[in-house]
Amino acid sequence: MLEILKNITDRLPGLVSEANFEGANIVLYTKNENFFVEGETRIKNIVNDIKKRIELRADTKILIDKEIVEKKIKEIVPEEAEITDILFDLHRSIVTIEAKKPGLVIGKQGSILDEIKRQTLWAPQVQRSAAIKSKITDNIRSVLYAKNRDRRKFLHEVGEKIYSGWTQEKSTGWARLTVLGGGRQVGRSCFLLQTENSKILLDCGIDVASSGEDKFPVFNIPEFDISQIDAVILSHAHLDHSGLLPYLYKMGYKGPTYMTAPTRDISSLLAMDFIGVSYKQASAPLFSSTDVSEMVKKTICLNYGEVTDVTPDVRITLYNAGHVLGSAQVHINIGNGSHNFVYSGDMKYGKTRLLDQAVNKFPRVESIQIESTYGGKNDVLPSRKDTEEKFLSMVKETIEKGGKVLLPELGLGHAQETLLRVEEAIRTGELPNVPMYVDGMIWDINAIHTAYPDFLSSNIRNQIFQDNNPFTSTVFKRVGSPHERKEVIEGGPCIVIATSGMLVGGASVEYMKHFAENENNLLILSCYQGPGSVGRQLQEGARKITIEEEGTTKTLDVNMRVELVNGLSPHSGRNELMNYVRNMNPRPKRIIVNHGEVSKSLDLASSLYKANRVETTVPRGLETLRLR
Ligand SMILES: [Zn+2]
Ligand SMILES: [Zn+2]
Repeated sequence: MLEILKNITDRLPGLVSEANFEGANIVLYTKNENFFVEGETRIKNIVNDIKKRIELRADTKILIDKEIVEKKIKEIVPEEAEITDILFDLHRSIVTIEAKKPGLVIGKQGSILDEIKRQTLWAPQVQRSAAIKSKITDNIRSVLYAKNRDRRKFLHEVGEKIYSGWTQEKSTGWARLTVLGGGRQVGRSCFLLQTENSKILLDCGIDVASSGEDKFPVFNIPEFDISQIDAVILSHAHLDHSGLLPYLYKMGYKGPTYMTAPTRDISSLLAMDFIGVSYKQASAPLFSSTDVSEMVKKTICLNYGEVTDVTPDVRITLYNAGHVLGSAQVHINIGNGSHNFVYSGDMKYGKTRLLDQAVNKFPRVESIQIESTYGGKNDVLPSRKDTEEKFLSMVKETIEKGGKVLLPELGLGHAQETLLRVEEAIRTGELPNVPMYVDGMIWDINAIHTAYPDFLSSNIRNQIFQDNNPFTSTVFKRVGSPHERKEVIEGGPCIVIATSGMLVGGASVEYMKHFAENENNLLILSCYQGPGSVGRQLQEGARKITIEEEGTTKTLDVNMRVELVNGLSPHSGRNELMNYVRNMNPRPKRIIVNHGEVSKSLDLASSLYKANRVETTVPRGLETLRLR
């Protein structure tokens, strides 16, 4: 047993039947009922000494039978809480109570949970039931609970690695960062962070608009050895950050990946969809659903603000990035504070309907990575108000002419922002009451939003808490099958929102085939359009496009109206990027600019330098920067 666990059990003689790690947390099991119910003070004293989280649970041998526990929980929790499910993780002595009103399960200062704990000896956890049911969250749960003995073993091994060689001393060692993808480009984001003791991947993306080797981060270099990667950290679920992660597991990665719970759910969903799209394009998928479940089993979820060690000399904390549901900026403390690097991923320093704006106050920062998708000096985004007005007036005009509106969107982010705006416009009479069809995956992603109101903007969160959940509005109609899709295509005026955002594969292409030739219809492009994509061609004025159809190609005349609207981007515009750094606290000493087309990244870097007089760099793919 590792030193740290031995020290703890020695301080609690005869009371601990087993001491385990769950990642960086420590879990003690006891067969002593009294100690389990009343041992909190003694545990707190130890926590104060070692500065690590310790949780006390009852040994599985003294646990009360599941049926009795279910009955007791239903007696203790008031009926208004509306319990929808009770799940048991037998190997970790945890019972998860899923309810529509989780606050009522917790009780005042946790009083109801305490009562459950006392009467059942299980460790109770509470989860909000999603307002919209989603198959993917059910699947994820079944993956996590099906083999929870393996999960317990895995979490323990992660902890053993973290604590072997763990110290509270400040390190004097080096740290460096290598760009494996996403340098001077958008797509395949991936950094390798190395210290004397750790190798960590930050994001593992795929460039969906590229082909061949250029799709993937560059792994074919001597310093990348999959068996030596200690941890992966995902900033958010977009494929250009998460897309290759299941493949990493397929290739033999066995360690943990850290991310928020919504990112876990959405990245799994996007990965499953990615497999489906590959089949439709008649190409062999890169990975299978088995690899996706492997990823889920190896995921460790963190909340914003939760500090955790991931290796002996690296500690991370996630902060809201304001970009999409669950998106995080990763504050990375290297060598007990000898260097602090913020990987801000993709972020929005501005409020949206959906999310609060990105955090830019950190305990300490020496260097920061910053995206530059809209970093060029001409990328000042129009105001939200103007953008929304322009958007609504175009949609209204089209509907009044009897046309249909097609909104190709990334499944996650801008799509939800648009949905919320349309819902409000129809509710308040700004738009005629036409159906808004939500095709396939976007619906599932909406469902995931309803399960995590704590990650949404305070405004939307309050609406949900007051039973006015905008995501469950009757304005939205789900399209889930080819038959339903045909009805939409043949039906009257409507708004259709579908993936892919760049019209590369996915449902949006299916609608495009039928909508393109009618001049009464409207296409609004609003997300980033990668070079070479159909969306980019249209954005640049092309009115004849070639699309793929079951392995062959087809040419389409585009007579429909094509418009660009990008004021509602989930990325920061030029001014927001400049303001983020200007108002940042503390000021970084170095800014690493990536995730943008070359000219935009360079332009942002030179402007940031002029405005702040701090070192800026725009590394190319494969360049390595020394952090300390
Ligand atoms: Zn993103
Ligand atoms: Zn991105």
